Amino acid sequence: MKKESVFIETYGCQMNEYDSDRIINALNAIPTNEPNNADIIIINTCAIREKADHKAVSAIGRYNKLKKDNPNLIIGMSGCVAQLYGKKLLKDMPYLDFVLGPRGIPQIPKIINNIRSEEKNRPIETSMDVEDVFDISPYHQEGKVVGFVSIQQGCNKKCAYCIVPTTRGSEINRPMPEIINESQDLVKKGARELTYIGQTVNSWKHDGLRFFNLLDYLQEIDGLERIRFTTSFPKDITKKMIDSMKNNSKICNQLHLPVQSGSNRILRQMSRTYTIEWYRDRIELLKEAIPDLALSTDIIIGFGNEDENDFQMTMDLINLIEFDTVYSFKYSIRPGTPGEKMKSHVPDNVASERLHILQARQKEITLKKNLECLGKIENVLIEGFSKQNQNDLFGRTSTNKVVNIKNLDESHIGKIINVKIIEAMQNSLIGEKI
Ligand code: SF4
Repeated sequence: MKKESVFIETYGCQMNEYDSDRIINALNAIPTNEPNNADIIIINTCAIREKADHKAVSAIGRYNKLKKDNPNLIIGMSGCVAQLYGKKLLKDMPYLDFVLGPRGIPQIPKIINNIRSEEKNRPIETSMDVEDVFDISPYHQEGKVVGFVSIQQGCNKKCAYCIVPTTRGSEINRPMPEIINESQDLVKKGARELTYIGQTVNSWKHDGLRFFNLLDYLQEIDGLERIRFTTSFPKDITKKMIDSMKNNSKICNQLHLPVQSGSNRILRQMSRTYTIEWYRDRIELLKEAIPDLALSTDIIIGFGNEDENDFQMTMDLINLIEFDTVYSFKYSIRPGTPGEKMKSHVPDNVASERLHILQARQKEITLKKNLECLGKIENVLIEGFSKQNQNDLFGRTSTNKVVNIKNLDESHIGKIINVKIIEAMQNSLIGEKI
């Protein structure tokens, strides 16, 4: 039987990128970057902010036009928006052929068969009651240098602003043998660096093992040269985890640790379960153990009744820690979350102004951090051809900074090389092989 070609437009986090690759594998399909030639188009959606959610819905409308030339084209929606709105999407968009929640991915071959055989019109799969959510591994192109491995699905925290526990369900941790098998398989296909992903990845536990034990086992995988993990939850940063990061030479010098606000009052309203003193203490312990650790964080502006004083505390934190990168957003009310029921929220224009101030300051800090790299020798894992210039190659430092390198031939792809940093820009570095 001829393999179908699938175009997937992915919104949101790395978990969604991973799920898109699982969909391709589940269908045993050929991935394509060209929607005009696809047999199946899937919009894999993110519901974390209202904007992303609207973007995904309008993408479906856009692709519907392709059905005029190709009546056999199937258009589906997967991911968190699909889970959240379910049947309503089919009602609102008569041209949408199926709806699939994040836990339904193993069901996708059946869904496509049903549509093709006209057995079931416009299926919907949003059940949370799924036996093995890790059944399907992701599609990984042979020779691709970096890959992802999911070690956890869902989330047991109850942050007041967050839709994830509703759309992805409660936390399910993947057994270690499955994690090791998938990692070994990706390494065999050419991966040199793997990022282990979960909503609160460092709360992973299974069969009496904790996250720090898992890190120790992962470093034993032959051929795996670099390990990253995301997203960590501040309260679950333990001293044993820090020791494991310090003593494990494969773990990259990089940590993404969302703080969300610098004010204890707002952290309480958000139900984040830690104080800013706890957060700062963990950062200190991490920096003592790994002095050149690069840090990134997430900040939500305008949650609850955040006032000028709360916002100033967030700015103070940004200035104190000097994160390498900050992902900052205006709060957006999500249906069904505790945040939706809260009485007051910051007016949009005030939140926009605060966001602008924070982003401008962070831009300066990020550039300063990049400039500090000038003249340094960095270990760079070469991933492929540079996006800016197809004659150059690009890779990443252990601290996750993108480095473009001139005059390097493609035999370097997949290798870690020493690179001297000769230029630093806002979003990337330029280096030369030494
Ligand atoms: S930890 Fe909080 S913000 Fe992160 S996914 Fe869970 S509920 Fe959402």
